[in-house]
Amino acid sequence: MKYISTRGAMAPLEFSDTVLMGLAPDGGLALPERYPQVDRATLDAWRALPYPELAFEILRLYATDIPEDDLKALTTRTYTAAVFGSAAITPVKTLHDGVKILELSNGPTLAFKDMAMQLLGNLFEYVLQKRGERLNILGATSGDTGSAAEYALRGKANVNVFMLSPAGKMSVFQRAQMYSLTDENIHNIAVRGMFDDCQDIVKAVQNDHAFKEAYRIGTVNSINWARVVAQVVYYFAGYFNATANNDEKLSFCVPSGNFGNVCAGHIARQMGLPIDRLIVATNENDVLDEFFRTGVYRPRSTAETFVTSSPSMDISKASNFERFVFDLVGRDGAEVARLWRAVDAGVGFDLSARLADVRERFGFVSGASSHADRLATIRQIDAEDSVVLDPHTADGVKVAREVRIPGETVLCLETALPAKFAETIREALDREPPRPAGFDGIEDLPQRVVEVDADAATVKSLIAHALA
Ligand SMILES: *Cc1c(COP(=O)(O)O)cnc(C)c1O
Repeated sequence: MKYISTRGAMAPLEFSDTVLMGLAPDGGLALPERYPQVDRATLDAWRALPYPELAFEILRLYATDIPEDDLKALTTRTYTAAVFGSAAITPVKTLHDGVKILELSNGPTLAFKDMAMQLLGNLFEYVLQKRGERLNILGATSGDTGSAAEYALRGKANVNVFMLSPAGKMSVFQRAQMYSLTDENIHNIAVRGMFDDCQDIVKAVQNDHAFKEAYRIGTVNSINWARVVAQVVYYFAGYFNATANNDEKLSFCVPSGNFGNVCAGHIARQMGLPIDRLIVATNENDVLDEFFRTGVYRPRSTAETFVTSSPSMDISKASNFERFVFDLVGRDGAEVARLWRAVDAGVGFDLSARLADVRERFGFVSGASSHADRLATIRQIDAEDSVVLDPHTADGVKVAREVRIPGETVLCLETALPAKFAETIREALDREPPRPAGFDGIEDLPQRVVEVDADAATVKSLIAHALA
């Protein structure tokens, strides 16, 4: 299997190349040249597989340049009950009104990003070792991504992580989670500024090509193809778990920000998994809901992006959305390049002529949720089911209940546990969220973090010093 770019101007690459890759050289995102097709007999065979074996079967269709024994060792090592809390890895629960929840947040940082990042950490180590290379990850985080990356790469050979976070701006729990890591290869850098300042520093360092080359600087952002494909696995696992047999249809509802999670659902559907509808749930930052209602994509400026109580969905443009649009326009890279020139110019584009395809051929539908909706849903599900939802998952459940039609079964993806977002849970329920075993007293652990001014030169010298 070879990989091409959504903008059509990249020489085909192998899977291993995409693991270490950020944007494609033409500015696009990597995608397989075609989606492998899964027939009924294969679905029947896969239904009974334990999660790590299912992950292996799906990944071997994509990672064709990795020897199968090595790939099997990687998935077996990644998806363990010790790391994800149960042998099921992604159990399903059913609320009393019939809406189902796919638990994806039982990994080390209590958010669904662990599902992909834990595999990516092992893939990084494997590919770097094979090539005799080293890599230094430089990233910026406002919370979930940074900690998932650190927990995935801690203690790994040939890789260091330098993670910038805005000093004093993350929750006490999130800070404790990241800064309490004491592994030699994890470097927490608190920047006196906002998240945007952290991101600007990352960009400035990336643009210093000499420095980037000399210090082997890489990224682990949400456009990484290996992350998307790792997420495809739990759509299959969730489908098998929530249905009785492969004749049934199932819809998924996905709390969305950068469109990475639901993009994996789109790919699973294209592979032949009997997914009925893909329901995209947004918060007040509704750029995606607007597209799926009207066919018009109108990215927002930072100034038009709201700070909400489901902060991991606070985006102005959805980076992975480009992968879906590539399929929507018949895989025409030149057309995608044209559309994204309009996005970069702040204008966006109008694909309303293709709205029937978006709905009928690709199965997409959407809805939005507000702060009041979020609180009401958290309260209602707590009262009816004694389940405490995190604010992002609550957005998904709200939208699922709103758009589902009689006879439709909807599986909502749980994107985080409520323990990470105590403030909103207190506001909704007037009590502390439940905390999983092993996280008691995490705020009291010693923390390892360096605080610096928002200045790229300072961060560069810090990196140079650490690697000397
Ligand atoms: C990252 C994240 C999301 C958004 O996922 P995308 O793949 O960016 O659409 C939603 N909820 C939580 C808790 C997250 O961490």
